[in-house]
Amino acid sequence: MLTRHLDADDLRQLLRRLGPEALLREIAAALREDFLRWEQFDKIPRCASHCRQGVIELMPVADGERHAFKYVNGHPGNPALGLPTVMAFGVLSDMATGAPLLLSELTLTTALRTAATSALAAQVLARPDARTMALIGNGAQAEFQALAFMSLVGVRRLRVYDTDRRATAKLLRNLQPYVDAGRLSIEPCASTAEAVQGSDIVTTATADKSHAAILAAGLIAPGMHLNALGGDCPGKTELDPRILQHAHVFVEYAPQSRLEGEIQHMPHDFEVTELWRVLAGQAPGRTHPDQVTVFDSVGFALEDFSALRTLERLAREHELGRLLSLVPAMADPKDLWGWAHGG
Ligand code: NAD
Repeated sequence: MLTRHLDADDLRQLLRRLGPEALLREIAAALREDFLRWEQFDKIPRCASHCRQGVIELMPVADGERHAFKYVNGHPGNPALGLPTVMAFGVLSDMATGAPLLLSELTLTTALRTAATSALAAQVLARPDARTMALIGNGAQAEFQALAFMSLVGVRRLRVYDTDRRATAKLLRNLQPYVDAGRLSIEPCASTAEAVQGSDIVTTATADKSHAAILAAGLIAPGMHLNALGGDCPGKTELDPRILQHAHVFVEYAPQSRLEGEIQHMPHDFEVTELWRVLAGQAPGRTHPDQVTVFDSVGFALEDFSALRTLERLAREHELGRLLSLVPAMADPKDLWGWAHGG
């Protein structure tokens, strides 16, 4: 029994071969399919181990046929040490035998699946005429969010801000080809307030292990859609809680989001709608052009399941990665000792 291994370079190759927009579309299609069969999945909130600097989380999910888990960390101080804030890998296995089919990098993949999920939510929650997005936090996730909103939601204008000017300069450099192609315009702003002014959608992708209020309630205009993805563990939020009181809030998986999302500030019975219900037509998304909607994203294991099964197929189609013997190849499966001592 062999396991396919995709490392970070394999993922980079796949991204270059398909192009980021096509890869985002592949993952978004798998996400939609899996959200639509939500009830077939065995779900639990992720298991988190916290320390002063950050968190390490394990995220399992299964559908009876396949099992997936992701290992992921969140350490906002890591860039100062030369490490990414978020690093991840994961495994897709066959439920019938428990055999691990794929061991994959998930750092780049997390950025892709998070952006695809944000775009999927915005397709049903943002105003259909939304073309301008504020992007607060211009770190590792930012370009992926920008491209997913351009490609899958129709955003044409970005207003960007980060407390670290070098992060914004990096974003401008990386997205220049899309500006040159006339597909995006990007305006660097001097503050969050300036970036949010006149925006239809506000994406917050900041990293700070604190109850931050990156967005003050006074900045929110009627009809905005907020895509808040940086507040994703206990003690780490981005929105002024008063925003939530006057908005319709959508989450991935309520039992996990109540612990980790922006709604950790709210009473336990605060009303939220799970995104899958909107996608399945069981609950309304946006019902009025003036409504303020919030996608309180924390990242749920199902999204990694969708990404892993997409990678497994694409890796086979593009002959990427290598086969690993993670499991001993025994002639007699009961003779582990003999295999260990054999030639
Ligand atoms: P990153 O460290 O690469 O980038 C974060 C950026 O936020 C940095 O450039 C930093 O300078 C900026 N920032 C911090 N405080 C700010 C403020 N007050 N105003 C403006 N900018 C500020 O991190 P990343 O990988 O881009 O991740 C961003 C956040 O998204 C993290 O909190 C991460 O945990 C979260 N995340 C969530 C999901 C999800 O599924 N919801 C997935 C991946 C990452």
